[in-house]
Amino acid sequence: MAVIGWIGLGNMGGHMSVNLVKAGHEVRGFDLNPAALDAAAAGGVKRAASIAEAVDGADAVFTMLPKGEHARAVYLGGDGVLAHADTRTLLIDSSTIDIASAQELHDAAAAAGFRFVDAPVSGGMSGAEAGTLTFMVGGEEGAVKDAAGYIGPMSGNIIPTGGPTTGQAAKICNNLMLFINLASTAEGAVLADRLGLDKQVFWNIASVSSGDSWALRTWYPVPGVVPTAASNNDFAPTFTTELANKDIGLAVSAAEDTGTPLEIGKHVQQLFQRLIDAGEAGKDCSMIIKLVDGSLEA
Ligand code: NAD
Repeated sequence: MAVIGWIGLGNMGGHMSVNLVKAGHEVRGFDLNPAALDAAAAGGVKRAASIAEAVDGADAVFTMLPKGEHARAVYLGGDGVLAHADTRTLLIDSSTIDIASAQELHDAAAAAGFRFVDAPVSGGMSGAEAGTLTFMVGGEEGAVKDAAGYIGPMSGNIIPTGGPTTGQAAKICNNLMLFINLASTAEGAVLADRLGLDKQVFWNIASVSSGDSWALRTWYPVPGVVPTAASNNDFAPTFTTELANKDIGLAVSAAEDTGTPLEIGKHVQQLFQRLIDAGEAGKDCSMIIKLVDGSLEA
């Protein structure tokens, strides 16, 4: 069994790292937030007091951090991964970050003698807990193959995407579609209610009809319909509005770089921005329904 360093034990990384423990690996975790570290430790992750301690002697290091700026700091900082890991350690970044940051990490890792892959995931917090995430993995072929050997216990699908940064490209496009689907699901749900349909009856129909989507089946924004939905729990975050806004912003900015008109994506970005302006950045992104039913003035 392997020794794994893990940096970033939040909504996703906490569950993912615990699945590696369950598979028999020794996982040494580090997070700036003591509560996140406590939760992972309860699942068998060993506490590391620093990045240096987490990566010491590791066969592989995973990072699961919010944004490009966090990933750059964790890999490139003076107290970071490249400064402290051994070059035999395989580096795997599963955060969703911008392509320029991902390229910078690939370049810096290669220059320092490391193998590095970008390996973002899809499947939400429920998929992280169940070990059924889809990993999209970009990088040099041998490194991608070796990364798959560690990813197994956390995943339902491991899909090589091509060279460096292609995993991030796939993830950015996937999440553009996810958040548009979430917004359309919120609109359908509120309209169905106002037309007198029972919430469960409408969901039963849409989930086997052409209105179906992952957002509908996993994040239905009306409470009491889908067990994995944050709407059951007063929108306590499984995927924060702040990170959803970040992801759709990555798509909008990649679209600008490539001359691609994303009219719907840009509109959904404005909806998330309204939630953030109303002080809801830390709540679950499925709270977008409150802009449709009028229960949040924003
Ligand atoms: P989160 O905010 O819950 O967790 C991120 C963790 O990183 C936090 O615990 C934070 O304290 C820690 N962190 C930040 N900077 C750090 C540093 N310098 N050193 C150590 N720890 C640090 O976020 P999340 O929901 O787990 O998402 C993580 C990434 O995965 C994001 O890029 C997100 O877009 C992506 N993602 C999220 C979901 C989801 O459903 N939540 C699904 C797929 C992908």
